[in-house]
Amino acid sequence: MRHLLNLDDELMEWLGMQGQPAYRAKQLHQWLFEKRASNFDDMTNLSKSLRTQLTAEFQIWTTQIAKHLEAGDGTEKLLLELADGGRIECVLLRDESRRSICISSQVGCAMGCVFCASGLDGVDRNLTTGEFVEQMLRLARLLPEEERLSHIVVMGMGEPLANLDRLLPALEIASSPTGLGISPRRITISTVGLPPAMRRLSRECSRYNLAVSLHAPNDELRNKLVPVNRNTGLEEILAEADNYFEASGRRLTFEYVLLGDLNDQVEHAQQLGVLLRGRPALLNVIPYNPVAGLPYKTPSSTAQRRFREVLEQAGLNIQFRQRKGNEINAACGQLRRLTPQVVPLDT
Ligand code: SAH
Repeated sequence: MRHLLNLDDELMEWLGMQGQPAYRAKQLHQWLFEKRASNFDDMTNLSKSLRTQLTAEFQIWTTQIAKHLEAGDGTEKLLLELADGGRIECVLLRDESRRSICISSQVGCAMGCVFCASGLDGVDRNLTTGEFVEQMLRLARLLPEEERLSHIVVMGMGEPLANLDRLLPALEIASSPTGLGISPRRITISTVGLPPAMRRLSRECSRYNLAVSLHAPNDELRNKLVPVNRNTGLEEILAEADNYFEASGRRLTFEYVLLGDLNDQVEHAQQLGVLLRGRPALLNVIPYNPVAGLPYKTPSSTAQRRFREVLEQAGLNIQFRQRKGNEINAACGQLRRLTPQVVPLDT
């Protein structure tokens, strides 16, 4: 069975072969994205026979909701089980009128950041375009009919820039008026910093916001926390981030996970101030969200305040990320680890 949410040329071809006019594709989009239909039988302006044929050839959903958690602050998290048994997480965040989602890009992650739960077992595979879109739709369907998704961050499990070929068509659907209609300015891709892929993004598709995960102000420390840094180094990553800014005109975001006694000292803040000075950027500091079994800890509130003050004095645009959905393990890859697998991976 083919996955309808890949919504690729195959569907257009198939509709053509059935002698269907091109606007059928638009009608299908409307049912999926505007009316949030859950199956072909809901699509009442398609003929009964077309619905039957679609049901025989295509599936809309390839994932199952293995777990659905809701936090008191309105955050909801889904653990999705993919057709091959792989599991990914995605999150809906409510903040005043914002309805943001955080989606995954891979099953697991190959980057090996030492403090992160997503990469502890390495990477299994890239997600397909359909699986990206399915996360968006599954989360949209948690909203009441009159509400729409407003923002997307690709900050879940995995490294999105290692899966650009499948991510970009999915974001195309997310931002298309006939898809989810979310402005590209409200879509953010977060990367550990892979220079060749950043270059490609600057060249081919600079409509979205780019966030770069730094986590350290010098290569010596970054090599320890973010092992892929050994192949690249901060200088090249920052140069590519600047290129992206040139191409997009969109203010950059740098992320910095604050780890107690590791990268939270005054000297780190000072170095970071020098490193980012003059860049049109927002520094997003994320106090570490502890992961069971890992030795890293959240810095004390005094250490956090001190870090912030140094950077504010350096004139940086800084934001401490509010914690959301803590009690439901909303940080990357945590829920997956804590939930026993129901279906074995090889089925
Ligand atoms: N691979 C992409 C997306 C990863 S997740 C990237 O590296 O940017 C998005 C952010 O959450 C990254 O900055 C990541 O380092 C951070 N993160 C991972 N685990 C965390 C944890 N336990 N607490 C706080 N932030 C975490």
